[in-house]
Amino acid sequence: MRVAVAQFSHETCTFCPDPTTIDRLEPHVVRGPAILDKAAESSSYISGFANVAREEADMELLPIVSVGMAPGPYTSWMDLECFDKYTNEIAEAVRNMMPVDGVLLALHGAMAVREIPRPEAEITRRVRETVGDHVPIMVTLDLHANEDEALARYSDGIFILKTYPHLDSEEIGETAARCLAATVKGQVKPRQALRRPGILSASIYQASEYPPMKTIYDRCREWEKTAGVICVSVAPGYAYADVVDAGMSVVAVTDDDLALAQTIAEDVSSLAWDLREEFSRPLPKPAAAVTDVMRLVDDGQRPVIIADGSDRTGDGTHVLRELLEQGAKNFVIAGIADAACVTRLERDAALGQSVEVSVGGQSTPLAGEPVRLQGKVEYLGRPQYTLVGPMQRGRKVEEGLVAWLNLGDNRHVVVGERMRGANDESGLTALGIDVSTLDIIVLKDRVHHRAYWDQVAEVDVPVDAPGLGPADLTVLEYKNVPNDIYPIGSKWR
Ligand SMILES: [Zn+2]
Repeated sequence: MRVAVAQFSHETCTFCPDPTTIDRLEPHVVRGPAILDKAAESSSYISGFANVAREEADMELLPIVSVGMAPGPYTSWMDLECFDKYTNEIAEAVRNMMPVDGVLLALHGAMAVREIPRPEAEITRRVRETVGDHVPIMVTLDLHANEDEALARYSDGIFILKTYPHLDSEEIGETAARCLAATVKGQVKPRQALRRPGILSASIYQASEYPPMKTIYDRCREWEKTAGVICVSVAPGYAYADVVDAGMSVVAVTDDDLALAQTIAEDVSSLAWDLREEFSRPLPKPAAAVTDVMRLVDDGQRPVIIADGSDRTGDGTHVLRELLEQGAKNFVIAGIADAACVTRLERDAALGQSVEVSVGGQSTPLAGEPVRLQGKVEYLGRPQYTLVGPMQRGRKVEEGLVAWLNLGDNRHVVVGERMRGANDESGLTALGIDVSTLDIIVLKDRVHHRAYWDQVAEVDVPVDAPGLGPADLTVLEYKNVPNDIYPIGSKWR
């Protein structure tokens, strides 16, 4: 059984300033057998495909190309040249491999290309055109996916993550690959139905272990116990791509039972619609959030995480400013992106030296004003470390230039060349920061960090600071989303 494998996965923030281009993605692209070697390093859709290929006596994976997000800030609209280059590379490679028995496509669902309203459907369509109607194509998606019937039309099965933080990409890869193998062997005949409840929500409301998403995923798992059901998925969607198919989608895949697939998709879709208001409850602004957090700390609840989820450029200063103005102590900001600042520090400052710098607030007016800081340089360099939390445990990180400034009173700010992730504490401890002494830990993240930090922190406080990825979607200027999408479509305002 010859199975073509390709990954072209991008979460495009169309409200961000810089375009997504070949120049940006190409340095991180992997081709050919190296894709499987890289997949073996941590769990992913492709490591899931590989697991199934090892189980199946006669399944050969033919890896083509793996294109993903570049490190650093989120980027805006992918240009057509970039989309065409990788999509055509996939389609042409499949053509050269023919005959193939099946195709596994690891896509994302939140790619945005101005000229191509439904990029994932178009990638799949071009592959479908190449292989014809009788070769099964299975697609995996992130749950931050915006899709409609077009993708269902060109694929045989759509399989979407059910965890946010994303911990089940390998499992979903396995489900897709198993379904493909069974289809090729004639053991199942997948039929799928896709429904859209008509809800658009900010990522911060989409954590899978908490309502409303937990309620919805529990219903999916309930349906998956029914005979003949292969997989039931929900993508709550990605609100920071202003695209025609933005919003939640439900996909049910059954074995040769379209009516059952439709019934399930409609049931889960109507459950989601009933829960729609829970996807837009208001969150505190920075001033109120910092006041609340300081009160929690006074009450002995520590440490507290402040999830500054709207900052997609990494240089937002709103929470830092409030912490300083309200006199907070024992805090760390795990990352403010400011390449110019750290470059100057590397040139002019020495470890242990006291410096005065201005940080952040550069990329967009929404990032806030730069903040003047006076502090001691406790770390200056390019840290290398291994992730220790459930998110990508074991993955080796080689960061760009980073500086840790100690402002006194156990107040710490890390300034990075790029936006810094902090899905576990390794990015802090690698610099020498003792997390156990801290009351407040500020992360530029929405939900992924909770896989690790929920075990460490007493409370997780999401804040809706001004930024390119706000929780309150009414502040964004949408042009393309459906008119009737709740709560921001013109019908609801
Ligand atoms: Zn995601």
